[in-house]
Amino acid sequence: MIIVLKPGASEAQLKHVVERIEAAGCRAHVSCGEELTIVGCIGDEARVERLNWSTVPGVERAERITKPYKLASRQLQPKAGVIEVGGVKIGGGTLTVMAGPCTVEDRKMLFDAAAAVKKAGAGILRGGAFKPRTSPYDFQGLGEEGLRLLQEAGRKYGMPVVTEVRTLAHVPLACRYADILQVGARNMQNYDLLTEVGRAGRPVLLKRGLSATVKELLLAAEYVLAAGNRQVILCERGIRTFETATRFTFDVSAIPVLKAETHLPVIFDPSHAAGQWRLVAPLARAGVAAGADGLIVEVHCDPEEAKCDGDQALRPDVFADTVKDLKAIHAVVCKHARR
Ligand code: PEP
Ligand code: MN
Repeated sequence: MIIVLKPGASEAQLKHVVERIEAAGCRAHVSCGEELTIVGCIGDEARVERLNWSTVPGVERAERITKPYKLASRQLQPKAGVIEVGGVKIGGGTLTVMAGPCTVEDRKMLFDAAAAVKKAGAGILRGGAFKPRTSPYDFQGLGEEGLRLLQEAGRKYGMPVVTEVRTLAHVPLACRYADILQVGARNMQNYDLLTEVGRAGRPVLLKRGLSATVKELLLAAEYVLAAGNRQVILCERGIRTFETATRFTFDVSAIPVLKAETHLPVIFDPSHAAGQWRLVAPLARAGVAAGADGLIVEVHCDPEEAKCDGDQALRPDVFADTVKDLKAIHAVVCKHARR
């Protein structure tokens, strides 16, 4: 259920609505927009539905949330949300560029990559310390040492940092060093992990599962939101199809679909979708043209020597040219984008 307040409803009326929802055994989720204040009821809706809302002062109407992803839906929050991390905005008409190496390999490579992406206009530094590798024999990441280096590089170059957490135990550890916690595609339906990052109170970058539908992605986000964390960024990163010419199939249509369904910021990852560096820039241009709020790209100063995903890493000069193009495309697109 959502309870839509009348324009100009008072603080006391809002408080009363929240109290009635809580008295009915539900949790109230208040969303204050410029024009509308909407209170979502999370829990056993039947008890809230029985209340005679038309008689409650300040209430315009009560209606059912028709989507299964209640907190993520536009019905609860019609206006697109903005997440702010260390002075960098994600959503709300900005184009946020997150970039860096797939994996933190050592200090020098990380700092070189960080300097290069910063110079090219990236706002957020990426780097994995706990890698979800397909083979157990491949480089698995530096663990806590990787987190430490990432934090240091982020501070030196003035960028908040994003890194993947794979297990529950990684969450408190990563919170000590990182600004955004990434849940990778392979963990999108790890519900315990989703709840744990939901409790961590840090922005969460949630990647779409390899074979997950848009609805499943939104329901995964709902786990994080239901745990009390409103700062979720969704990421389209390519899905498994019968096509083998690319590593995954970049589902560009997921971007406008998600933007219409949810108020959460939507970014994309052209690197893992493409699997080859030559395809990264065209996919990046397509994703921005489709209305994404940003993207996350792998950049490496020496891709031949990369310990992970070298084939898809952009060299800094290619990345810098790509960012220029993306800014130009974004300037055109934001006229049409749904806010
Ligand atoms: C990554 O971003 O480092 C990564 C492993 O991505 P994904 O989970 O999308 O495969
Ligand atoms: Mn990678």
